[in-house]
Amino acid sequence: MAITQEKQWSRYYTNRGYDGIKVHYRCNQVQFRGKQCNAALYLHYPNDTDEVVLFRGANEHDHTNSIHRKVFPEEAKENIEELFDLRLKLKKIHQVLQDKIFRITFNQLKNYLVRLRKKKFGPSTLSLGELESLCIEKYTVPQADDEPFVLSYNVTYEDDDDDDNKFRFLYRRKGYGKFLPRQHGYMLTLLIN
Ligand SMILES: [Zn+2]
Repeated sequence: MAITQEKQWSRYYTNRGYDGIKVHYRCNQVQFRGKQCNAALYLHYPNDTDEVVLFRGANEHDHTNSIHRKVFPEEAKENIEELFDLRLKLKKIHQVLQDKIFRITFNQLKNYLVRLRKKKFGPSTLSLGELESLCIEKYTVPQADDEPFVLSYNVTYEDDDDDDNKFRFLYRRKGYGKFLPRQHGYMLTLLIN
């Protein structure tokens, strides 16, 4: 479809009217938060046919000076991935890239690393059910000293007498445990309404 091929449109919002559904796209050469580009288009899915109609606004793109969201050069990506695999921290990676004269802003790099991390390790969000099974799975003390495990957890569900749903767990590495105070683990409490 033309919209995908042009690689510069992102789905923006959808509205449903008496004559069908309109899916609006915004120009993704500008940031989502911020002033939108004048150029826009939408797809119209009329109620009465199976056709899809593409409407293109008459306005031209007006962001010629916002070069900051240019796509990364492939070479930079490879560099970043390499540095990422070396477990360098964000600041260090940025510095190395600067030294190699890649023009990438700190924020661009940060966003890219978020995507890279997701690609390599999967999404960083867990459902409550996944979290609970993770707790069960990690509840046994591991052999290795540096492997994290769950020291205790406590799940309360709505059916219980309490007003809130609670989920607490204390997560720590074995190496720390013995003599150090408990703040060396992570105590998280989730409240779900
Ligand atoms: Zn534009």
